[in-house]
Amino acid sequence: MTETDKDKKQNYNLNKLHKRLRRNVGNAIADFNMIEEGDKVMVCLSGGKDSYTLLDILLNLKLNAPINFDIVAVNLDQKQPGFPEHVLPEYLQSVGVEYKIVEENTYGIVKEKIPEGKTTCSLCSRLRRGILYRTATELGATKIALGHHRDDMLATLFLNMFYGGKLKSMPPKLISDDGKQIVIRPLAYCKEKDIEKYAIAKQFPIIPCNLCGSQPNLQRQVVKEMLNTWDRQYPGRLETMFSAMQDIVPSHLCDPKLFDFKGIKHGQIIAGVEGDTAFDEEELPAVPAALEADDDNDYADNGLIQFKSVA
Ligand code: SF4
Repeated sequence: MTETDKDKKQNYNLNKLHKRLRRNVGNAIADFNMIEEGDKVMVCLSGGKDSYTLLDILLNLKLNAPINFDIVAVNLDQKQPGFPEHVLPEYLQSVGVEYKIVEENTYGIVKEKIPEGKTTCSLCSRLRRGILYRTATELGATKIALGHHRDDMLATLFLNMFYGGKLKSMPPKLISDDGKQIVIRPLAYCKEKDIEKYAIAKQFPIIPCNLCGSQPNLQRQVVKEMLNTWDRQYPGRLETMFSAMQDIVPSHLCDPKLFDFKGIKHGQIIAGVEGDTAFDEEELPAVPAALEADDDNDYADNGLIQFKSVA
């Protein structure tokens, strides 16, 4: 293959990847009504691959979206030692987006309050959340966009099951406890593998995430490794599990807060619930359902931005 052929193939692959990410983000925005006419979306930029990809795709969607919305990028400079302060301003100026760098020494607070060797992430992220909420109010932002993706949501589901005893993940859209902020996760349908490839191809100036010196969250790492192993051994399993998160049958779990088991009466027909499988083996497809339906690896992407029901 000549160099020109290689370049052509690389461009073709990048184009396909870009279309897929754009389509995934457009669909998530539409499915959860994440962005509405006149919104000002504050995109939280950490300098990692996920938040760069989020900003890039949102800026791209904005160009062709059937609604008007504004974007402001925000980075919180937490004053970790070695944080390269120039990187994000230079990048943000180069893409021409409105931005704000918020400087708050949360690193110093965390170091002062948490004894050496203990995990600092929970205090650090609480402080960060407060600062970002305050910044959103100051900027008049109506939505706060975070860069979590499908694989973060799956990992959180298992972490909560394994360690928290709850069937709970990371919501694609949520409202803050005081009802003042709406947080959205437009990458909810995007695979981490796609984001990784995109960030490399686009050569985003990634800022290392270990500047604070905190130990990585071992529980999350173990769960991520488990998911990655499944993905290698059983292609389609992650897709199927994510589909399952979108198709929940409360009458076939055991949470009486979600389903009135006590109130079940003779003659009652419950809409939307499949037949009684209490005595039968579940009939499961040989191939994971989501793999059959997954068109991410073929040419089905026509490049149209869905944004189906946003308007
Ligand atoms: S890794 Fe460091 S910067 Fe990130 S949440 Fe934990 S303490 Fe904070």
